[in-house]
Parts: sequence; structure tokens; C-alpha cells
Amino acid sequence: MRMLKINNLIVNYGHVNAVKGISFEIKKGEIVSILGANGAGKTSTLFGILKLVKSKRELFFNEEDISKENTQKLVKRGIILCPENRRIFPGLNVEENLKMGSFIRGDEKNNLEKVYNLFPILKDRKKQFAGSLSGGEQQMLAVGRALMSDPKILMLDEPSLGLAPIIVDEIFNVLIELKKEGISILLVEQNAIKALKISDRAYILETGKIVHSGNAKKMLQDEKIKKAYLGR
Ligand code: ATP
Repeated sequence: MRMLKINNLIVNYGHVNAVKGISFEIKKGEIVSILGANGAGKTSTLFGILKLVKSKRELFFNEEDISKENTQKLVKRGIILCPENRRIFPGLNVEENLKMGSFIRGDEKNNLEKVYNLFPILKDRKKQFAGSLSGGEQQMLAVGRALMSDPKILMLDEPSLGLAPIIVDEIFNVLIELKKEGISILLVEQNAIKALKISDRAYILETGKIVHSGNAKKMLQDEKIKKAYLGR
């Protein structure tokens, strides 16, 4: 079943054409990666979907046309972004940060339990200031906070950035768990190989255009694609 369909997404910043009319879709329970170099337009794509920047696009959620809905409505539907650089509240403790995520939707208590089951370290540290957590723990907190708002579609912007491989594995394993629950995941990554390993499909962006798309496992085996686009 198609969860989200994006048609002809355009994001311009003045004269900079960051995203040049791309179209793609995400099915229920799918992990879809958007890959590409620095400045390819990945973050702008996520922001454009949610109207966090000025954008043009058609947007369908379960085949319903929601192109005209504002950011708040899109979030209420469960289209949730876990932003780059985490954007946690350093002066609040872990649990307070998590509760910020349930502000808009959902049942705070059940969601807290769910997040603590997925990331037990957050439970151990629930009274600790978020600013005092390690980078990996802060990223877990950012993902946990996004989960507090009951996502149907979870969009993550570079969750692996700056983290040790073992921590990245831990976070990616949680994404696989979420997929099993039927949550759809749109993953923006520069760590292409790792992202492809957990993805069903991927789109490769280059200067605001999709230059390749397809099955993630096939891309991993395609030496030409790896060489041309994935830094190998
Ligand atoms: P990164 O991995 O570095 O975040 P990205 O693939 O996410 O890269 P974007 O951040 O979407 O790429 O940027 C796409 C293009 O738009 C780049 O050329 C960037 O310089 C430009 N850009 C992004 N934000 C703005 C802005 N607020 N004003 C002007 N240009 C911008």
C-alpha cells in the first residue's frame, strides 16, 4: 500500500534551485533511502515535503490529496521529521525532551514505555540533562522524541552523522523494528552503504534531481553505481 506519494517537488532559495521537480513514493512498512553528496538537496527534500521551507509539490497520503495542508496538519497525520543535528533541548532532562514529542499527538505514557523499550539507556538516564548525554545517546533521544508523536512516516535526516559504527548499528536496528510495526521510514543519509543495507529501495539525488532509483540490495551489488554515486 502506498503511504506517501510526492509529485514534482520543487524547492528554490532565491536563485538556487535546490530541488528540481522530483517525484517518489514510500509504501507502508518500507525503508526508503535518499542518498547523495553534500548539497544534493536531501534536507531540502524533507523540508519541502513538510512545508518547512517554501516548496511546490503534490502530496498524497494513503491516496488522499493533502497537498494544501500546512506543517501542523501534516505532523498531526503522523508525517514526522527527526532533524539533522538532533535539535534536542539541552537544558531539559531526557524524559522532558521525550514528552515534548508527544505534545501534538498520542498517548504519552504508552509511548514513553515503547521508547524506553527500544532505547533502554534513555530510561537509565531519564532524569539527566539532555545536554550531558553522549552524541549517540542524543541521537537516540532525537529518534525517541520523534517516536513519541506516533509517526506513520518517520523521516530521519542523517541519523548516523558523527556517530561510532556500533551506535549507528543500534539506531538502524531500531529502524528495522519500526518497519516491522508497519511504520514507513524515509532515511536521508551520506552513509550510503549502511543505509542501503537496511533499505528496501533508494533514490540517489544529484544537484536536485533523481539520477538513479531502485532496489537497495541491487544497488549494493552494482559496482558502477557504487563507484559513481556512493563514494566507493
Ligand atoms: P547536506 O548533506 O550538506 O545537508 P543536502 O543534500 O541535504 O546537503 P541541502 O541542504 O538540501 O542539501 O541543500 C541543497 C542546496 O541548496 C545546496 O546548494 C545548498 O547550498 C542550498 N541551500 C540550502 N539551504 C539554503 C538556504 N537556506 N538558502 C540558500 N541556499 C540554500
